[in-house]
Amino acid sequence: MEVILAQPRGFCAGVDRAIEIVERALAQFGAPIYVRHEIVHNKYVVDDLRAKGAIFIEELQDVPPGNTVVFSAHGVSQLVRAQAHELGLVVFDATCPLVTKVHVEVAKMRREGREIIMVGHHGHPEVEGTMGQSEQGMYLVETVGDVERLVVADEHRLAYVTQTTLSVDDAKEVTEALKRRFPDIMEPKRNDICYATQNRQDAVKFMAPQCDLILIVGSPTSSNSNRLREVGAKLGVEAYLIESASEFRPEWLAGKKRIGVSAGASAPEILVEELIELLKTRGVASVRKLPGVEEHVQFPLPVGLGGNEERGSSISHDSI
Ligand code: SF4
Repeated sequence: MEVILAQPRGFCAGVDRAIEIVERALAQFGAPIYVRHEIVHNKYVVDDLRAKGAIFIEELQDVPPGNTVVFSAHGVSQLVRAQAHELGLVVFDATCPLVTKVHVEVAKMRREGREIIMVGHHGHPEVEGTMGQSEQGMYLVETVGDVERLVVADEHRLAYVTQTTLSVDDAKEVTEALKRRFPDIMEPKRNDICYATQNRQDAVKFMAPQCDLILIVGSPTSSNSNRLREVGAKLGVEAYLIESASEFRPEWLAGKKRIGVSAGASAPEILVEELIELLKTRGVASVRKLPGVEEHVQFPLPVGLGGNEERGSSISHDSI
């Protein structure tokens, strides 16, 4: 058997930055550092930071006054920001700059007097954060059916944004339906689906025809990891999402020769390496890396943590 490795896979620039913010905060201020929600949706990453002194909470009321809190990469609503201020917490914001870009779009469109429709998954923290950028609320649609049922106040003053980690193909169906139903709707200037989501899905699409089994390393709560599994499955390949090698089931290999492997944007490479080592004990003789997009995206760290975020001079927007 052969393992075929998708390229790119695993950590994106937003995840790298979010983890580094927590690590730098721990080094600079000492434990504990509070983190609102899982910093990124990956159990290995969260357990590792917890062992170093991070405390993960869902409600800011659980942070003792005067302590430091980091907002997760998924972003937070304006209400949560105001709460942190009222509670006198020191805040470091690990919201991915590409999520912040969507927040800025929402604010701009609201100022223009438009109602905003968000295409995203109900209950995902990024969706809650983005929808919480507009005091007057926003509409959430997940499917073409939702678009057909939607009732708006003024169909001539609408705009839409999307979650950054959607399936590129599913999102296109929904946004096409929005444009059909509301021809005057304003689109985002640039696609809100981020470069990392796009590149990882393209890589699985390229890999899928060469495989008869696909294994995606990522947590079940990770939106972009779930989408990678779906992309493989939609192309007719048996595909599983696993948190780590311990979830691998040997019977999946029955009759298979070429095993495609990729990882969601929040999954560390060590988990991919452990899976490959396990597969080698089960009859995999070689590993072939596919060609793919090389990513050189970097986001600056907050000023208080040794970065130069205010000037933004270290942002490299290659392939964003
Ligand atoms: S998946 Fe995209 S939006 Fe999410 S953290 Fe990574 S770069 Fe940012």
